[in-house]
Amino acid sequence: MAIEQSKIERWEKELSKCIRCGTCRQFCPIHQVLDDESYTARGKLYLVDQFIHGDFLLSDGFVEMIGKCVMCKGCTANCPSGVNTYQIFMEMREEIVKERGLSFTKQSIFRALHWRKFFDFGLSCGALFQRLIFKPAPDGHGQVARVPLPMAGFNQRRIIPNLPRKSLKKIVPLESKARGTERYRVGFFTGCMINYAYPQIGQDLIHVLNHNGVTVLTPKEQHCCATPLFTSGEKEIASDLIHKNLEIFAKLDIDYIVTACSSGGLAWKEEFAKVLGEDHPDYPLALELGKKTKDISEFLVMIGIDTDGLQPLQQKITYHDSCHLNRGQKIKQQPRQLLQSIPESTFIEMEKADGCCGSGGSFNLKYYELSRDINRQKTAHISDTGADVVAVGCPACLMHIKDGLAQDGIQAETKHVVELLAESYGFHQNRKGE
Ligand code: SF4
Ligand code: SF4
Repeated sequence: MAIEQSKIERWEKELSKCIRCGTCRQFCPIHQVLDDESYTARGKLYLVDQFIHGDFLLSDGFVEMIGKCVMCKGCTANCPSGVNTYQIFMEMREEIVKERGLSFTKQSIFRALHWRKFFDFGLSCGALFQRLIFKPAPDGHGQVARVPLPMAGFNQRRIIPNLPRKSLKKIVPLESKARGTERYRVGFFTGCMINYAYPQIGQDLIHVLNHNGVTVLTPKEQHCCATPLFTSGEKEIASDLIHKNLEIFAKLDIDYIVTACSSGGLAWKEEFAKVLGEDHPDYPLALELGKKTKDISEFLVMIGIDTDGLQPLQQKITYHDSCHLNRGQKIKQQPRQLLQSIPESTFIEMEKADGCCGSGGSFNLKYYELSRDINRQKTAHISDTGADVVAVGCPACLMHIKDGLAQDGIQAETKHVVELLAESYGFHQNRKGE
């Protein structure tokens, strides 16, 4: 396996910073569950070091140890020596894919994502026929598979959302105008989860922004943010999706790009440029649009919202910090500030609010039981607060926590921050028919 010399030199420089202190162990959700050094950042770095110096082959065991990671940035954010573990793991995955290729399932999904119209069509059919493969979950919130589907990462217990007949981009117009005087114009990057699984979150985001004087443009032809691809080591299709997204949003007459998905936001802010690399012709545009990108909570706090229009919600609310929002984008206070502005609601912090929920993108499809073991700690902390609602800033965490709460018999609901704001503004009363 021939890794570029410049990459090896860069890795060696990073690896030499590791003082083997083991601090990363206490922040690693995989280590907390498996209690195995090999899966910590320290263990992984040791393996990478041995590998690039020719002491290890690219064995199944090595690939498994690099792959068993939720990419939560817990190690990167807390390393006293500043080792960029996240970047090394991502680049190591890329080398593994170059050598071994992707699994059939990932290859099929990534190719479909590349052909957006085909993917749209596939999911519309999926929504139409989901009752054949899935049945309503016992608690009525979502669907469970009728038979185990291990290839697709579904066992019979896992609860997924009811797929809507129409994706968000089919429901909302290209331009949703600000109410009253227009303060800002933004492009809405929906991300796949909100577009295909939770369009109501996207509708709520548009309502909340319009109410606060923001015109929202939702381009129909936007693509996946490519996070599942580049975190799996697939760079070629990822770069093409990034190029298409940059081209689409660069044409819009907007002040900012807004997202409500933690990984999508991080991708725009940082990863697009990193994946493309400095020599790519789109690199300057990726940097420029990255600076224009804001998470929805970050944006709403930045512009200041109409708090007088918020109506009382008598609910006890807690909040889960998504890894890619908190450690990735450093967005921690803004969602709390928004939730605390809802009249008559009570905000209560859960223990380890910034602990990973175990979702980890496609990680939970491949290692569902392990992701549930991590998730069980999260649901226990939610349960301890006695909250009616756990608010999140990411649809992927929302899906995984919803599943976990249902599996563990905990009654709390899971909602996106923007859904709670929309509810408090009274928008849900006239959602029918949108
Ligand atoms: S915390 Fe950083 S320096 Fe310490 S063992 Fe982990 S990677 Fe190495
Ligand atoms: S990114 Fe998270 S899961 Fe992966 S090694 Fe670091 S702390 Fe562990």
